[in-house]
Amino acid sequence: MTFNDNAKLDTSRVSKRGRNTGIAVGGGSAVVVIGLFLLSQVLGVDLTGLAGGGQAGQGTQSEESLDNCDYGSDANANVECLMVGAENSLNDYWTDEAPALGITYTPPADFVLFTAATNTGCGQASSSTGPFYCPPDQSIYIDTSFFDELRTQFGATGGTLSEMYVVAHEFGHHIQNLAGVMDRTDRTDTGPTSDSVRTELQADCFAGAWVTAASTTEDENGVTFLEPVTDAQIADALNAASVIGDDRIQEMGSGQVNPETWTHGSSEQREKWFQTGLKNGAGSCDTFSISGSEL
Ligand SMILES: [Zn+2]
Repeated sequence: MTFNDNAKLDTSRVSKRGRNTGIAVGGGSAVVVIGLFLLSQVLGVDLTGLAGGGQAGQGTQSEESLDNCDYGSDANANVECLMVGAENSLNDYWTDEAPALGITYTPPADFVLFTAATNTGCGQASSSTGPFYCPPDQSIYIDTSFFDELRTQFGATGGTLSEMYVVAHEFGHHIQNLAGVMDRTDRTDTGPTSDSVRTELQADCFAGAWVTAASTTEDENGVTFLEPVTDAQIADALNAASVIGDDRIQEMGSGQVNPETWTHGSSEQREKWFQTGLKNGAGSCDTFSISGSEL
């Protein structure tokens, strides 16, 4: 999706953490394993099986500036500013939409762009963890190098909407957290009709709902953030939803598909629910009260 060049970006809710400059502490690997285990239950994109092992260590991380992200033109030119723009549009969308669903909206506590590794309320994350939402600290974590992986490892067609879809999916998990979904559901359960998959498909549906409304979201001056979405961009986002389906990832990893271990849903399910949100809005995203065969 393309930003209006003169839309004003607000970087106040987004953080950028620099590369870890500290010295890795021995024994850190145990911390990483625990971190990955915890994270694997909340991941927006579960890369378990593809992860090359984290090399996260303890150390100080510098807070870096996003001062170069002033306007929509910057979001069109730079992936970090694109993340800021996506956050801005999503924040505006959910400020209006969440109350309509009976949810009291507050923004994610932090939206963290990191490089290589970082500490989170869910444990230590590395690039191989993939983008995720951490319910205990109500924050979203993204290493934007994941978008390169989406293209090179997963074979996604790419494009800015596929990248913003990932942000919108994680934002969806924040909305679920505010709505109490994360507390009500059994996230250790797996399989095509499990609570885990229902939670992920709802986040995909919320992402689709935002896409349709995105061109109506506005900056502080009433300038719309985004131009209307094109069919080609929607195709890219559907493609991204598809290539990170559990069946596709399993096939890539081991050549075998085992639905009983699914946590995020098949390619078909993920595309279907993204499209449900796209066509019918966030009110249509109740993935919990329908039968498994309808998922
Ligand atoms: Zn997710």
